[in-house]
Order: sequence, then structure tokens, then C-alpha cells
Amino acid sequence: MIYHPEKYNIKDEAMQPFIDADEIWDIINNAKATKKRVREIIAKSLDKNRLSLEETAILLNTTEPELVNEIKKGARELKEKVYGHRIVLFAPLYIGNMCTNNCAYCGFKASNKSIKRTTLDKEELINQVTALENTGQKRLILVYGEHPKYNPEFIAESVRTVYGVKSGNGEIRRVNINAAPLSIEGFKIVKESEIGTYQIFQETYHPETYNKVHLSGKKKDFDWRLTSLDRAQEAGIDDVGIGALFGLYDWRFEVLGLLRHVNHFEAVYNVGPHTISFPRIQYASELDIDKLHIVSDEDFTKLVAILRLAVPYTGLILTARESAEIRDEILQFGVSQIDGGTNIEMKGYTKNKENEQDIDSEQFQINDNRTLNEIMDELIENQYIPSFCTACYRLGRTGEHFMEFSVPGFIKRYCTPNAILTLVEYLEDYAPEETKKKGYELIENKMSEIEDEKYIEKVRERIEKIKNGKRDLYF
Ligand code: SAM
Ligand code: SF4
Repeated sequence: MIYHPEKYNIKDEAMQPFIDADEIWDIINNAKATKKRVREIIAKSLDKNRLSLEETAILLNTTEPELVNEIKKGARELKEKVYGHRIVLFAPLYIGNMCTNNCAYCGFKASNKSIKRTTLDKEELINQVTALENTGQKRLILVYGEHPKYNPEFIAESVRTVYGVKSGNGEIRRVNINAAPLSIEGFKIVKESEIGTYQIFQETYHPETYNKVHLSGKKKDFDWRLTSLDRAQEAGIDDVGIGALFGLYDWRFEVLGLLRHVNHFEAVYNVGPHTISFPRIQYASELDIDKLHIVSDEDFTKLVAILRLAVPYTGLILTARESAEIRDEILQFGVSQIDGGTNIEMKGYTKNKENEQDIDSEQFQINDNRTLNEIMDELIENQYIPSFCTACYRLGRTGEHFMEFSVPGFIKRYCTPNAILTLVEYLEDYAPEETKKKGYELIENKMSEIEDEKYIEKVRERIEKIKNGKRDLYF
């Protein structure tokens, strides 16, 4: 066991080791998936309870098709019962692909000489953000390699630049970050720029595999990474996102690793992570791994459904690494956020070519090249309400997923109306006629989900205000 958080100056309680590979394997090996137990566990989750590691392991070991279908059905029911039909949209923006690490799975690794290295300067950053705003984006995640150049001041400055870009009615209202772990001091500097979520993926919770796939560089230090979001908490960033890169090690182990991490946050800080990401490894320039633990589409779908049941009030993010078909299929099992109109090529949002990727300027290959509007259109068609809502974070309502989940009426009072208002902005400012028509039909259908007549009136008033030119109205 390698775990020395005392080196990193974090809270006493956080110093208890929480990842023990043998213990996780024992839990998996002892979990017997009987019909009775699987059904009891699904019912427990539908009753709005978190699942234990042991219970989750039983679901992970379920292979009988009838029971797997029940797990998926349970996840769908939980999602519909609790969250309704909203899907939050965002886009990733790569700020710089210089990197001093050698992560075997990543195209940006230092040893990859075929990659074109770029860091957006201020003007280039403004151009990318303008292009994103012009398609209707309101929420971005900024992505950085790990390099001395991308220090906390640099990250904070890029966040401020993004917030400052206004194009027509467009603006970015929430900037999330995916970057290397920082010191407590570093996190404090970044926090001041008013970021939303700070996201760091552990990649694999299996220390031996971690050591194998991180060939050199600062990222080789498992503990520095595992304790990174504890330092973020110490610095006052309580909105954090965790994730595992599926394909490096056994997927069941990684799911339990993620849950252990959630439990750790809840035990020490009283608040779980805001989101969990579960990227599956994709083809990358000079991918250098002997043995991939490929997760099949079937297992991936099951994995997402199990995560939904295990942590009912944590946001789940599904990215454009996955194909449109897989995304459409998996959305129903409880995903709460997806990226749309994604381009991960450096300066990609101002390029004029569609559906063509240059793997030598990207971190990995993406599989969903749809434009933001194509995704909006499909979501609307399938009766989802695409949402660009940023209200909770701007009003200081932290722990929003927890509130959605546990505060009666929260979704009806805040989430559905805010999703509708941000959709109206999109329909008015960016949507082609056909999407606009479908969008307003959807809004009419979904008004009934708000139920309270008085509240419906308030929403209608605000819709009229938006049509008359007002923007950024929320509850
Ligand atoms: N440099 C930062 C770091 O390592 O934390 C930012 C990370 S990277 C730009 C964002 C995430 O992409 C990584 O944490 C990893 O999980 C994922 N990633 C890297 N290579 C990948 C690949 N070949 N396929 C899919 N996802 C990949
Ligand atoms: Fe660098 Fe991050 Fe890629 Fe690793 S995953 S090589 S740290 S950009």
C-alpha cells in the first residue's frame, strides 16, 4: 500500500488510507449475485438510499441477463423518478497540450514527438470562446496538460479571460477545470477566479497498474494524485469531480475505487464529489499499453446503471469519446451531463472542417462529432430538456445534486424551470427554425412537470421576457 498523505499537508481525517487493493478484491470475490439479493439492492436504491461497497459489488457480479435488465430498469426508474428529463450540456476546451508526464494511454505524453504542441495565447483563447458562444454554449471545461507553464496563475488567468468574452447574447457562465493536481496554495489561486468544478481523474485506483501506465513525470506519484482533491477541499474548492479511465484495469475494481473515493469525501468533508466521469480509453497517437482491459458496450451500459443506483445523488458525465449510438442508449440510465459540439483539437473550434480529426494534434480520438445543434435537436426529439443552467452554483446552492435528490419539489421549483429558460435562450439566439419549433413544443409538454399553476405563470412571464430580449433569468 502506498499512501503518505502526511507529506501533503492535509487534514488528519483525510490521512486515513482509503484505497486498499486487497480489500477491494475481497469485496468483489465475496459478492454473490443471487436473485433475491440483487432485487433487494435495487429496491434499496429506488428507496433513495446510497449503496454500500458490498451491495455494489453484488450488482457488479450480476451476469444473468434477466437480472442485468432489472438493474438497467432500476437505474432508468431512479433517473426518471428523481431527476426527470433534463440533460446538462457543456463543451471541453483544450488550453494547452504541453506535458511533462508520460501517461502510456495519452497522445499528449512527453515522449510523443509527432504531436504538435500548442498553448492558446490570449487572442486565440478569446477566438475559441467566441466561436463556442456563437453556437450557444454556456458551460465549458478547460483542459490542460501538466507543465510548469500551466501554473495556478496561468490557469486562473485563462478562466478570467473566458468569463470576460461576450459575443452577442453569448457568454460563458460556468468554467470548470480539468488539470493537474495542485498544492493547497495553488488551488486557492485558481478558486479566486471563480471556477465551477475542479476535475481530476485518478485514471486507475489500482496502485500497481497506476505505476505501470504512468511511465515518468510527476503524475507517477499515485498518492499526490489521490490526495489532490483533498487539497482542493482544504483550499475551499468543495465542488470537485472524480473519474477513472476505464480500460486500464478491471472495470469492477475501478467502480469500487470510485465509490471508495466518494465515501472518503462524504466521511471527511460531509459532501460527496459533484460529478463522476467514466471515460473509456480511446485510440491515441502512440498509445503504449501491452494489455488493455477493454470494457465491452454491454458491460459499459451495466456499469453506468450500477453507478446510478450506487450513488443516486452524484452527477454522471458521459463524453463524446463514446459514439452517438452508445450515448443515446446510455443517457436513459442516469447520465446527467454530456458534452455537445465537441472538438478536442487545439484551436479546433475555429477550424472550418467537419468530421475530420487530426490525431496528431489531439489527446485521443472522439466518436461523437455531432454539432451542438444536432445534439440539441435529438435530445428535444427524444423528450429530454437540454439545459445550460448554472443557477445553483451562481446562487451558492452547493450540493445541488444532493438537493435535487433529497429536497422535495427542488426539481419542480428550480431545475425544470431553469432548464426551460436556458433552452428558450438557445432557441431564440441560436436554433434553426425547425429546432425552434420542436423546442417550443417540448417546453409546452414539460410545463406540466412543474405542476403548481402559479409557478407555471412565473415561468411563462420569464419566457416572454427572454423573447423580448432579456437574458440570464433564473430561479
Ligand atoms: N493533464 C491533466 C491530467 O492528466 O489530469 C488533464 C488530463 S486529460 C487532458 C483529461 C483526461 O483524459 C485524463 O484524465 C484521462 O482520463 C483522459 N484520457 C487520456 N488519454 C485518453 C485516451 N486515450 N482515451 C480516453 N481518455 C483519455
Ligand atoms: Fe499529460 Fe494528462 Fe496526457 Fe498524462 S493524461 S500525458 S498528464 S495530458
